[in-house]
Amino acid sequence: MRAEAILATRDLTIEFKGFKAVDGVSLNVEEGTIHALIGPNGAGKTTCFNLLTKFLTPTRGAITYKGKDITSMKPAEIARLGVVRSFQISAVFPQFTALENVRIALQRRRGDSFDFWRSESLLRRYDREARGLLEAVGLSEYEKTRAGALPYGRKRALEIATTLALDPSMLLLDEPLAGMGHEDVDRMAELIRRVSANRTILMVEHNLSVVASLSDRITVLARGKVLAEGDYKTISGDARVVEAYMGG
Ligand code: ADP
Repeated sequence: MRAEAILATRDLTIEFKGFKAVDGVSLNVEEGTIHALIGPNGAGKTTCFNLLTKFLTPTRGAITYKGKDITSMKPAEIARLGVVRSFQISAVFPQFTALENVRIALQRRRGDSFDFWRSESLLRRYDREARGLLEAVGLSEYEKTRAGALPYGRKRALEIATTLALDPSMLLLDEPLAGMGHEDVDRMAELIRRVSANRTILMVEHNLSVVASLSDRITVLARGKVLAEGDYKTISGDARVVEAYMGG
């Protein structure tokens, strides 16, 4: 029996002047899994993410999270439910250190006023929690480094730490490995695996070997529609998927 879907879409569709960028997509992301959304350029992956986080409003269809209809919710309300997209917070402040950035994200979650800078005990509490998050993403040695001076891969890891500070139950990762060299790819893949231990992850990613090794389930989009769905073995053996990539 299939596990319950934590995030689901039914017939999700958006039209731009008659062009359906996402066309009747029904997606079931099961709780606790890593689910990848892949497909050739222009397939509708980013538009789909924008619909899920409500940066776009669907022309038709519904989105549910934990059984609750979230189709007409605002982005901030969805974030409060625990669905957080990594780039929403990729506003990492370059002039602040890694530790300060995570501390600011923690403060935003709690909604404390910025007076916490003046409260020694509150500051110590945030620092403890922020250090824990930096350690979780392998950035302990960079806590005093300004975010703007971090190497690219480390900066992406800091984005993950600031996302985790919001305590999401579901993370939407938009091309988490984009622009990374081998070493950073391996490190980020390991981080995603670790982060997924107690969260659900939906990611758009082009690196198919990492998608293959990380994902429990993969949905292939092409021309706005679901072309195939299953584990990597299933979808990589699907002639339509191969053709979509070759032709894409
Ligand atoms: P992917 O992320 O899979 O590369 P996108 O979701 O970015 O694909 O785009 C899917 C299709 O929708 C593309 O053909 C793109 O040109 C089109 N599209 C996306 N956003 C808009 C928009 N705001 N207006 C018109 N067309 C759009």
